[in-house]
Amino acid sequence: MCAPAAMEKRAHAMLFPFPCSGHINPTLKLAELLHSLGVYVTFVNTEHNHERLLRTGAGTAGGLRGREGFRFEAVPDGLSEEDRRSPDRTMKLYLSLRRSCGPPLVALARRLAACEGVPPVTCVVLSGLVSFALAAAEEIGVPSFVLWGTSACGFVCTLRLRELRQRGYTPLKDESYLTNGYLDMPIDWIAGMPPVRLGDISSFVRTLDPRCFALRVEEDEANSCATAQGLILNTFEDLESDVLDALREEFPRVYTIGPLAPEMHSRVDRAQGHGHGAAGLSLWEEDAACVAWLDAQPEGSVLYVSFGSLAVLSLDQLVELAWGLAASNRPFLWVVRPGLVAGDRGVDALPDEFLAETKNRCFIAEWCAQEQVLRHRAVGGFLTHSGWNSTMESIWSGVPMICWPGFADQYINCRYVCEEWAIGLRLDEQLRREQVTAHIEEVMGDTKKSKEMRRNADKWKASAEAATAPGGSSYENLDKLVEVLRLEEADAELASSTHAQ
Ligand code: UDP
Repeated sequence: MCAPAAMEKRAHAMLFPFPCSGHINPTLKLAELLHSLGVYVTFVNTEHNHERLLRTGAGTAGGLRGREGFRFEAVPDGLSEEDRRSPDRTMKLYLSLRRSCGPPLVALARRLAACEGVPPVTCVVLSGLVSFALAAAEEIGVPSFVLWGTSACGFVCTLRLRELRQRGYTPLKDESYLTNGYLDMPIDWIAGMPPVRLGDISSFVRTLDPRCFALRVEEDEANSCATAQGLILNTFEDLESDVLDALREEFPRVYTIGPLAPEMHSRVDRAQGHGHGAAGLSLWEEDAACVAWLDAQPEGSVLYVSFGSLAVLSLDQLVELAWGLAASNRPFLWVVRPGLVAGDRGVDALPDEFLAETKNRCFIAEWCAQEQVLRHRAVGGFLTHSGWNSTMESIWSGVPMICWPGFADQYINCRYVCEEWAIGLRLDEQLRREQVTAHIEEVMGDTKKSKEMRRNADKWKASAEAATAPGGSSYENLDKLVEVLRLEEADAELASSTHAQ
């Protein structure tokens, strides 16, 4: 049903993220910011997630649901229940959306155009991995913008995957190349980036398969998305200035608007007259008790441990990590989401002896309000998989990291965290409890190195705050983006009136 709304000529952005937390969260934050600056917003979830969000209590989406000029819509993802339980569910989801989701998006835009009080859709904003929707935007007759969910260095590395293949670096010749030092080969020809190890570029360089599906998907997605009218990145100028300069040589319309954090949302608060602006669409129920537990811990004492929404650990890795944490003798808050452990297991996979030994100084949550946790004064370190949202949230909070990357851009994020920004330490691919304990001490203790990391983390936090404050680069870039969305809208209107004459 279309609710009547104050009708005015207004840019109308239809946002469609790939349906997982790492894409939904930043896209929803962008949606909220656009809305606060006067853009009419339609946020499109898959029907499956839409129902799930209602169940987890995220249905109000931080108070966005029901706000004038902000609507939620849903389209089918085409997956069967069996597909959803499959270990390949993310790949199946990707293929299914690609196969079946374009027509429902076009139909939705047409249906909205017929709704009284709703301005016609004037642009489509996608996250990565749904580049098929570029064609849908074309069919609707509006420009498209992509919020690519990685760092700028992550995006550039993904763009270069094709060249790495063409130059013969990938695929690897055989299994031995995974461990014989080949992945340490320096790559020094990527514009805007310091020399990095081949293995830092992406998890996808580790393939032996010349037709590797994931590698082709990454290559294709990045190259297709680069054809959109604008590229939006959740990063900020000072953090990645060299790589952004190089990227703009190829794509002039790059808008850095990160961190998509509460400071940017302070403008939302002002515009909407409410307290906490950051929107929430959590796919799992957040455990609020962990915040009360944090309240009782000394400042900077707690290690927060989380591997995001997609990573899967083997049972051996889980056990190794658990005993590494136990031996640190420090308090820790560990998110063990359902499905974190192979075999669709979660908290039930933690060894009883480990739970008994650490029960007085650990909190195990299935999911938490991560941004709130990272900003809590008790948190002094973050053991992370180096997903970009987690990395950005940690930078924003001034929390140094222990990185254990395993997938896609997580390797290059880790490389920058540890070496360019000097706010973290990396764990070896082969997880060892002794190294976990040693790194926790090195990041959270009182050594020269830990103090230096904390100083750097404070510096980057200040820099992120400056970028998102009025007059800062991200703040200004968001205004520029909205201006472009409005101009696109005006252009479209001009084109249609010229056409009508
Ligand atoms: N997250 C959360 N609660 C948790 C763990 C993660 O809200 O307990 C959020 C986190 O704040 C981030 C997202 O999930 O915004 C994870 O995104 P990221 O890019 O770090 O990793 P991905 O899930 O895509 O691998």
